[in-house]
Amino acid sequence: MRAPQQSLDQRLARFVRDRVEPALVADRAGVRVTAWPAPFEPVPFDRAVERTFGPMPEGTAWGSAWSTLWMRVDGRVPDAWAGAGGRVELRVDPGFAGDGVGFQVEALVYDDSGRVLKGIEPRNDRVRVPAAPGESFTVFVEAAANPDVLDGESFTPTELGRRQHAGDPLYRRGRIELVRTDEDAWELARDIETLWGLTRVLPEASSRRARVVAALHAAMDAVDPGDVRAGVAEARRILAPVLAVPAEGSAHRVYAVGHAHIDSAWLWPTRETVRKCARTFSNVLALMDEDPDLVFACSSAQQYLWVKEHYPDLYQRIRERVAEGRFLPVGGMWVESDTNLPGGEALARQFIEGTRFFLEEFGVESSVVWLPDSFGFTAALPQIALAAGAESFLTQKLSWNETNAFPHHSFLWEGIDGSRIFAHLPPVDTYNSQLSQDELAYLAGNFSQKGEATASLVPFGFGDGGGGPTREMMAAARRAASLEGSPTVRHADPAVFFADAQAELVSPPVWAGELYLESHRGVYASQARTKRANRRSEHLLHEAELWAATATVRTGAPYPTERLREAWRLVLLNQFHDILPGSSIGWVYDQAEEEYRQVAAWTQEIISSSLDALAAAGTGPAVPAMANAGPFPIAGVAPFSVGEVHAEADEVTCERADDGWVLQNGSLRACFDGHGLLTSLVDRRGGEEYVPPGQRGNLPQLFVDAPRRFDAWDLDAEYRHTARDLAEATSVAPLPAAPGEVGLEIERVFGDSRLRQVVRLHAGRSALQIDTEVDWHERQRMLKLAFPVDVHTASARSEIQFGHIDRPTHENTSWDQARFETVAHRWVHVADAAVGLGVVNDAVYGHDATRHARPGGGTYSRVRQTLLKAPLFPDPEADQGVHRFTTVLVPGDLAETIREGYRTNLPLRPVTSAPVAPLIRASEGSAVVETVKLADDGSGDVVVRLYESHGARATVRVAADFPCAGAVATDLLERPLGDADPTRPRAWDAGDVRLSLRPFELVTLRFRRADVARG
Ligand SMILES: [Zn+2]
Repeated sequence: MRAPQQSLDQRLARFVRDRVEPALVADRAGVRVTAWPAPFEPVPFDRAVERTFGPMPEGTAWGSAWSTLWMRVDGRVPDAWAGAGGRVELRVDPGFAGDGVGFQVEALVYDDSGRVLKGIEPRNDRVRVPAAPGESFTVFVEAAANPDVLDGESFTPTELGRRQHAGDPLYRRGRIELVRTDEDAWELARDIETLWGLTRVLPEASSRRARVVAALHAAMDAVDPGDVRAGVAEARRILAPVLAVPAEGSAHRVYAVGHAHIDSAWLWPTRETVRKCARTFSNVLALMDEDPDLVFACSSAQQYLWVKEHYPDLYQRIRERVAEGRFLPVGGMWVESDTNLPGGEALARQFIEGTRFFLEEFGVESSVVWLPDSFGFTAALPQIALAAGAESFLTQKLSWNETNAFPHHSFLWEGIDGSRIFAHLPPVDTYNSQLSQDELAYLAGNFSQKGEATASLVPFGFGDGGGGPTREMMAAARRAASLEGSPTVRHADPAVFFADAQAELVSPPVWAGELYLESHRGVYASQARTKRANRRSEHLLHEAELWAATATVRTGAPYPTERLREAWRLVLLNQFHDILPGSSIGWVYDQAEEEYRQVAAWTQEIISSSLDALAAAGTGPAVPAMANAGPFPIAGVAPFSVGEVHAEADEVTCERADDGWVLQNGSLRACFDGHGLLTSLVDRRGGEEYVPPGQRGNLPQLFVDAPRRFDAWDLDAEYRHTARDLAEATSVAPLPAAPGEVGLEIERVFGDSRLRQVVRLHAGRSALQIDTEVDWHERQRMLKLAFPVDVHTASARSEIQFGHIDRPTHENTSWDQARFETVAHRWVHVADAAVGLGVVNDAVYGHDATRHARPGGGTYSRVRQTLLKAPLFPDPEADQGVHRFTTVLVPGDLAETIREGYRTNLPLRPVTSAPVAPLIRASEGSAVVETVKLADDGSGDVVVRLYESHGARATVRVAADFPCAGAVATDLLERPLGDADPTRPRAWDAGDVRLSLRPFELVTLRFRRADVARG
């Protein structure tokens, strides 16, 4: 540190602490505090205030983890405060442990009628009292004993993250008192804060800095220690001229957006998020009441719904501010979801449910995708967001990259289909800014596009655990509106920033492909049970919508719109960026399992009742049949239909050979050694061998997984040095004979765990199925299942939403090196120009695909599935217990792998039924129908979502098999598209649609039913 700066810092620190801060309170008065400790779970205001409140002196210990204390505060504003100036506020310290916001005790203050007044946080601990001088008042304080699970990022395993009903008190009631403030002293504190900040960031040689330093010294000189209050005005008068010097013409321009990143669940359960929303939003409303400049951007329809259900009065006040354009619903998503893990339809539904909610509740539609904190971004997102009506995208998270600095802050982001969306990474590198001069100076220097553009967005306000903007931040913004040496600051709607930024940046740089986060690579595997439930729920919802739509159209059965919406909303909530990725406390996963069970029960009920209705309505006799919910024929059963299976004539055998076994059918021969490892896999149709010389597939590998930081989130590159092959089997035995299938059962024991696999080859199916069950009791270890593939290729294809992405298998660049763990949905496919192999799964997301020297020359590829992690933080019990995974090896081209991906995740469902014809028939080719459902508006229209799956141009014919009055192409919200593209039709007179598709193009079609009366 520079010596002159150091002496200034020392003098200012002492001056602020000893002179200014004591002067902030002009007068104080006592209040009476009584309390009622609530039982474990929160109770609403009406029930709490009926209880008996007992004495609660300052210093009383209270609050086992997650419990609640209700305090009643009775006071009277002294008569003498009339006309004395300042603000009359109740200062509440429920027992703060330090000044961290959102990770410890928090409180909400109500008036005696139950109206929410304001939240109480460590750095925002006052509420204006509902009384004038001479009047008495009563308020209630609901204090939540939320534990500090993070404990200063020590990542120490803790039991605090599970629901518990007893435990030592965490907090001691602090001072609660009435204060009358000195606003001049407060303004002086703000003046000093801004100017002091300038002295730290301006060049030492600058005359501007010298003048600011001189003014600060002169201001301190003007305040006599014996009578501080008398000197405040003079000090402010001295500082006013340096605060009045306007910004330079080329100053960076900041668009400040009030914000509070509230994680919908993380180190707290969702029931606490409900209360965090109330605290934060009431803070915002209270600040808006006194400061007309504040605008506040708030994402996540789910959080608005929580407030609507639990705090109707607060919600009404939010609605009024939304109507004024100051409380801004942004993002258009149900929650700030992860974007890598949700399936295509689910990611679309994040936008559909969120946007529909904002439209229905507020009549507004956000144009900005708002995902400051999600852990990397799928290359499918640009197309999905644009199809939902979004125009721009914001994240901050790529500033967390550990290897490569992301090169742009304002740019066009291009997805797999070529869709481009304008994107902004706020160069302030935080979504919790306080608008300090240090932050403002940093962002101006950090802004990559500063040669071509002049503006960036700053989300300011305490976040993660909530809190939001404060008076102090607003004061900092006001002083920086135009201030020499500082970027300029204006409050703005993010949509205004994006419009201005796009207009200004004439030829923005383009980033094509995914926004891979070079950190948090463990989130593709942590909490595998939740990930499996997500995958199953997505496919059950697909089935439920398909069969319910079919039953409604074919039999007139009512369509379960509300139940489906409820189920979707639970699935969407659990895709929040700390739930599905696996980074929340154990309580969150206990609740997620409950909710997924509910989704399974609801969807199974819809599927059964729909198929029952269809079975009964059929014209032919009910016979043993199969319902095929997938988009490809299986064993003669057409897509989206019910029919009889027509098995191909094929012979399948299992024979002992050397010390192993050979499984064989007409198309495949798979050889296993005596330890159940795959030594050969031959496609008998072309004779290709897929296991490289000397390699063995189906190899489980155990690794040490002890990240430096962020256990559940991270996977450090060093894990690769610790591979232990679990090559030894305790038993390998053929499965008992069964018609049309042969198999082996393999058992392995390691550590405290057990792994059991059943390998199956079916007659007439060109795929080898491996069902793996792991009874997992390891800690800080990771389990992968490895498949070396005798294919020389530069890249591996991984399924993502509505398509796939190619990622290099080499490590040429630092970007490739950093991408050592990746996400895939139902499959990874590696191929040379002639042959390929798909590794398909039913519940795995984490993969790595690499290349290795091949004995005999060339390279082979290795695809590994990441089955399990065992992090200790934040859930020390994460992933313990039994897990099941199905893996299917599919020799052949991409098309075969795509088909098998659907088949594995949407297996045939046995029914006794007459044949049921599909509602929709699509021509064969690379276009895939992902979704068949009824329209959300209750019109009875049939909605079909399809996409091109190979990355190739394609034509497709989609025909309705029901009385149809025509079809239109729509956006995701099922609204007809405009005529932006005159080269292709947007509407068809009959239910027979012919379309040409761009590579990976996503299309939504709406078929109007001719037999439905319209109101
Ligand atoms: Zn977050």
